[in-house]
Amino acid sequence: MQTAKRLFFSLDRQTECVADYIEPDRYSFLEQLPENERYIPRGAGLSYVAASFGSKSISLGLSKFNRILAFEPSGEEPTIVVEAGISLHKLHLFLCPQGLRVPVEPGHPQISIGGCIAFNVFGKNQFREGFFESCVEEIELFHPQKGLLTCSRNENTTLFELTIGGMGLTGVIVKAKLRLKRIPSPWLNVQKIPFTDLHHMFQVMKNESQTADSLHSFNDFTSFGKGLGRGFVYAAAFSEEDTAPELLMTFKSLERKPTRRFALFNRLTIPAFNAAYRTLNTRLKPYERMPFYRFNYPIAEMSFYFDWYGRKGFVERQMLVPEAKLDPYIEKFEALLRKYRPQIVFGSCKFFSGKQCHLRFAGTGIVISMEVMPNAANQGFHDALDELNVHMGAIDNIAKDSRVTKDLIASEYPEYGKFRDLLAEYDPHRQLASALSDKLCL
Ligand SMILES: Cc1cc2nc3c(=O)[nH]c(=O)nc-3n(C[C@H](O)[C@H](O)[C@H](O)COP(=O)(O)OP(=O)(O)OC[C@H]3O[C@@H](n4cnc5c(N)ncnc54)[C@H](O)[C@@H]3O)c2cc1C
Repeated sequence: MQTAKRLFFSLDRQTECVADYIEPDRYSFLEQLPENERYIPRGAGLSYVAASFGSKSISLGLSKFNRILAFEPSGEEPTIVVEAGISLHKLHLFLCPQGLRVPVEPGHPQISIGGCIAFNVFGKNQFREGFFESCVEEIELFHPQKGLLTCSRNENTTLFELTIGGMGLTGVIVKAKLRLKRIPSPWLNVQKIPFTDLHHMFQVMKNESQTADSLHSFNDFTSFGKGLGRGFVYAAAFSEEDTAPELLMTFKSLERKPTRRFALFNRLTIPAFNAAYRTLNTRLKPYERMPFYRFNYPIAEMSFYFDWYGRKGFVERQMLVPEAKLDPYIEKFEALLRKYRPQIVFGSCKFFSGKQCHLRFAGTGIVISMEVMPNAANQGFHDALDELNVHMGAIDNIAKDSRVTKDLIASEYPEYGKFRDLLAEYDPHRQLASALSDKLCL
């Protein structure tokens, strides 16, 4: 099988490069991979950052490894065995009519299971279901020099732990056995609860976390006066009564292509978009009955959304602030917003619970996400926010933010050195590498 040169973009358009690409369609092909090359697995290629390509690596597209291999729907803990290139969409179409789901789902249906494991992703229900690791029972991993290895919590445990959130650097996840969860219906009752600022939002989320199945917020960071950060919490619970089948489970591909477009977001349109979105949701539609698919994947049909950022794309900031530091953090964070007035198009928060290890974006606290215009004028804000995060023990998400450097990550993640050393011990030749791992010196 021949490799082909291809132009790759990160979703945020902050990194692009030409690299070799190949899309194997059978296991025997993997076994024939030359041992002296560098590789990096690629799922749907939807990462915000350059995690599944690199100019010195061959990108291995896994989209043809997309079959369901075994399914055990009965019993307390239903399970499924899938090839890792399968999309969340394909799994949803199979599982949902049977009253089942993958318990942790990130926000786009095109995303692959391999990508979910490699970034240990989270959904809108993180506080209830944890990270993707919580539903992975077993992985089959291929390494060009080591062949196929099975790993789980009982077998090759160090490798299992390194592969979850391991950014594809331990090998190609070929298959995974996943734990599933039953759902009472494919419909959610969604309430939109307004809040006046970030402190208020945290209280609302904490209260709602007792009963909601899913929680996230919309935050308006465009007015720098009293209502800075105001917005509403989406508090969703599965409907117990409504069992009508779900409709319109479709999506449009988010694959990035070259563009010459200018951004539609600017100083006039950003505040207008935020005000309109807030008003529409809190005044006109404070309650909605929503299909599960549409709630989970709100921009599934809106492939144009990221194009509105134009050819320069955007900078995604996503940080996890420890609960114990939340109040002082919010004060300092708001002071930075007022000082630098960055152009934030879209803001959102999630409520997290869990433990941090390796380079996983995990812990207990609040996750603040922002899509920021990539203007040079916003650089002062980013630098000051990096400093604040290091000072307050917050961590930036490596999977989302193309700006992060090795020094920043080494300062924020206590196990940076341990993760790097374990990788080197497992694979001294570091045969799996991406533009991201090169940048982080992994
Ligand atoms: C609209 C949108 C919403 C999102 N929402 C969320 C969210 O709510 N929560 C969240 O956590 N993330 C979210 N993400 C980020 C996304 O979940 C991750 O970036 C995910 O890794 C993308 O999966 P992918 O299949 O596109 O993988 P790719 O982008 O192709 O690869 C991502 C990483 O996974 C590795 N990888 C992929 N397949 C394999 C494999 N078979 N074996 C080994 N390694 C592999 C790659 O090497 C790379 O390091 C969102 C992304 C988008 C575009």
